[in-house]
Amino acid sequence: MNIILLGPPGAGKGTQAMKISKHYELPHISTGDILRENITNNTNLGIRAKSYMSKGELVPDELLITIIKERLLQNDCSKGFLLDGYPRTIPQADALNMILTESNKKLDVVLDIHVDDGELLKRLSGRRMCSCGASYHVIFNPPMVEGICNVCKSKLYQRDDDKAEAIKNRLVVYKKQTQPLIEYYTNKGLLHIMDGSKEIQQIFDDIKTVLDKI
Ligand code: ADP
Ligand code: AMP
Repeated sequence: MNIILLGPPGAGKGTQAMKISKHYELPHISTGDILRENITNNTNLGIRAKSYMSKGELVPDELLITIIKERLLQNDCSKGFLLDGYPRTIPQADALNMILTESNKKLDVVLDIHVDDGELLKRLSGRRMCSCGASYHVIFNPPMVEGICNVCKSKLYQRDDDKAEAIKNRLVVYKKQTQPLIEYYTNKGLLHIMDGSKEIQQIFDDIKTVLDKI
């Protein structure tokens, strides 16, 4: 199964992706995680991406398209994949179509997680991350031990772009550059809207209902 998770920052894509990936044994490909790893490792890509990310801007399409092309060629994607945070622009979506067509693959479903702006602000400002990709919230989804990841026991951190100014910009950028993908994938008959305001487990149950029909 080849899946895209769409939705604004803070909608719960990463949270649901961890569950989907485990349940359906699909590689979770988060372009945000790939970029953050490159920043940590001080690679050329990381150095180029950092200034865009800290301001809440999108990293240029050509960099993302190269990243996703290389990642989708890896063996673990042969039986399917789960994209989280890609595509974020129409050119990225067009590039994905080309990449998939070249390898005789196709998208099965685009899950669009809807949450209103007020809730997104609360979610992003209280988010705490782990380097393993797990995402927590100080109130809505706290870890068992404060500040420590349940999964890998590492120390949690707050993302640079989860500060007030960057959050506001990310929501503006989402509306302008990413929201048009809703119509794009609706026109392809692939879009399923998920109510992201529910409890985490309830949303996952709704997602399973959609995916189990595919
Ligand atoms: P995204 O990957 O879409 O940016 P995350 O999965 O990181 O979003 O979730 C953003 C924040 O909201 C995190 O702090 C997460 O724990 C919390 N969260 C995720 N889903 C829900 C939910 N259904 N209800 C309340 N909080 C949630
Ligand atoms: P995320 O972890 O998905 O919230 O992404 C964090 C940041 O990484 C975004 O605000 C962008 O700066 C950058 N980023 C991640 N994925 C993409 C993408 N597909 N296109 C452009 N920039 C991206």
